[in-house]
Amino acid sequence: MKVYFVGAGPGDPELITVKGQKIIKEADLIIYAGSLVNPILLDVAKDEAEIYDSAAMTLEEVLAKMEEAISEDKLVARVHTGDPSIYGAIQEQMDALEDKGIEYEVIPGVSSFVATAASLKREYTLPDVTQTVIVTRLEGRTSVPDKEKLHKLARHNASMAIFLSVHMIENVVKELAEEYSEDTPIAVVQKASWHDEKKVVGTLATIADKVKEAEITKTAMIVVGDFLDTEYSKSKLYDKDFSHEYRKSKSESN
Ligand code: SAH
Repeated sequence: MKVYFVGAGPGDPELITVKGQKIIKEADLIIYAGSLVNPILLDVAKDEAEIYDSAAMTLEEVLAKMEEAISEDKLVARVHTGDPSIYGAIQEQMDALEDKGIEYEVIPGVSSFVATAASLKREYTLPDVTQTVIVTRLEGRTSVPDKEKLHKLARHNASMAIFLSVHMIENVVKELAEEYSEDTPIAVVQKASWHDEKKVVGTLATIADKVKEAEITKTAMIVVGDFLDTEYSKSKLYDKDFSHEYRKSKSESN
């Protein structure tokens, strides 16, 4: 038997993958990140499945539970919010399993930064606006390398998704304002895809007050950049005068 790291998606229980849900249905042991994973996702678990919230556990305790279950030939689901490769702290778990010779597999999930774009109905990569999305955070208990300080990343004026930082919104704005103009659009989405989702849209000049007014203090994504509200060029992919591997241009085929 294996340990499966499952991306639970951003919250909406229908936004887990078919594969991820199948593992939760079959698992004998489920360890989930209780602070963010929607518990409704675990409703499909077997009655006899053992379920633990990792919020109150150490890395060693999580690993010990996994090791015990695997030695009893049980299926383990380690459920992380969004996609586990982004601020999921799964590398240390995978490396420890590797050392113990325990097999594991990762099932990706819908990250909250893409659920946020869906909620806002915006595309991060608009032609002639930006072709880059930067995923980052402000320093918290985990430090951020000096070359990646927010004001340095801001130089690109790309689309940015800033995790784990809404409680420091003033600092976020201060750093961004070093490189983006004050009227740059910025949005904050709390609990994207949940029933009680909240969102505020403004500019660098107005967003901090709006976040305060809406009482958004955690579980929120900050996205900034002109992609939120600007003129852009149409995609070449669907341009009638442009042909590519799968489609001849109208002018050529006529
Ligand atoms: N692996 C997760 C991120 C975990 S870090 C992912 O891929 O989404 C936790 C941070 O993710 C939160 O502080 C918040 O910034 C963001 N987050 C998680 N779920 C969210 C949601 N539903 N809506 C908005 N932001 C969310």
